Amino acid sequence: MKTIYLDNNATTKIASEVLEAMLPYFKEQYFNPSSQYDNAKKVFNEIQKARITIASFINASDEKEIIFTSCATESNNAAIIGTLKANPKMKHIITTSVEHPAVLELCKYLSLNGYDVSFIPVDKNGNLDIDYCCNKIREDTVLVSVMHANNETGVIFPIDDISKKVKEIKPDIIFHSDATQSVGKIRLDMGNNLHFVDMITFSGHKFHAPKGIGCLYIRKGTPWLPFLLGGHQENGQRAGTENTAYIIGLMQACLLAEQHMESIKRIEILRNYFEEEMMAKIPYIIINGREAKRLQNTSNISFYGVESESILNALNQRGIYVSAGSACTSGTLEPSHVLKAMKVPDGAMHGTIRFSLSRYTNRKEIDSLISILPEIIHSLRKYSSSWNTVLNRPREI
Ligand code: PLP
Repeated sequence: MKTIYLDNNATTKIASEVLEAMLPYFKEQYFNPSSQYDNAKKVFNEIQKARITIASFINASDEKEIIFTSCATESNNAAIIGTLKANPKMKHIITTSVEHPAVLELCKYLSLNGYDVSFIPVDKNGNLDIDYCCNKIREDTVLVSVMHANNETGVIFPIDDISKKVKEIKPDIIFHSDATQSVGKIRLDMGNNLHFVDMITFSGHKFHAPKGIGCLYIRKGTPWLPFLLGGHQENGQRAGTENTAYIIGLMQACLLAEQHMESIKRIEILRNYFEEEMMAKIPYIIINGREAKRLQNTSNISFYGVESESILNALNQRGIYVSAGSACTSGTLEPSHVLKAMKVPDGAMHGTIRFSLSRYTNRKEIDSLISILPEIIHSLRKYSSSWNTVLNRPREI
């Protein structure tokens, strides 16, 4: 059975060009970049080239602003903890209620360990309440961390606008953004519209580099202290022998993303076509975040009267891979914090599926999904008691 992969916000396949670029660093160029002989110095220089290329990809002013890490989770932890270390007297953090756990769980931990954290709510479209954010700023606010694009709904937050407003109120606040879902899909320009953003974090495996390589951008002059301590790698900012092959892979993925930036329009057309067909063919659905500015590859749909796991399993049996908006914990389906924050109606929230496309997704695959999904939903609803409840009560949307 040929599989159809529509879970690209979870991870993406490695581009063949990326793999090709990496291979020499496993085979011949395996030297430790800190060693002193010529071949090791060459490897060090290749890492520097990658740093320069990635700095230019996001229009950073200096390659020293780029720190290679192991993943976005590490980058987020380093960004936040490093900021707090450098500003020990400041105890207030602002973040959003819909961050990825890589930020949210850390902020929850900090809130139990001496920090006060304000979580900004979103509306039913997934948009952020920017005034709420600004009103929360206090004398001891040290950090505002607002993700760029939401991993579940694709909703994009206007971090250019928010960071500007935040800095107008309190210029010494550090503004961080988890850009893991936007890098590679949206052009990020740290020298222009993102001028007020001090730190961004991202991960290679979301745009066709392998899992295990992340990046942390820190604007020159930002008060920050290293999180991982040890050797002097990464200009003394992140200890640990450099993961050369993966750094080269990340560079190649950035070059490819730049080349393919325009192809995102094709993906958007495909995504919109899918959503229109779903709306025409399946009654009682909500497309979450549809009214907001969204990533072009993401479609998050709540189907009334069915459970996400049942849809996911039925699609899985047909070789179609997607993601559920509810996770099964201790036998109960727990809807995601993002859907809860958006107040998706109860009858629909439990039947949420995320479809996420990539530049490798084609029309034939989307047509297959369109031909299969309505029948799956229809048959699941036939035997669903919650579907009967939905039909017998006034519609919530
Ligand atoms: N932040 C966001 C928005 C994400 O979507 C993810 C992964 O899904 C992460 C952080 C964590 O990325 P990594 O797996 O590289 O740690």
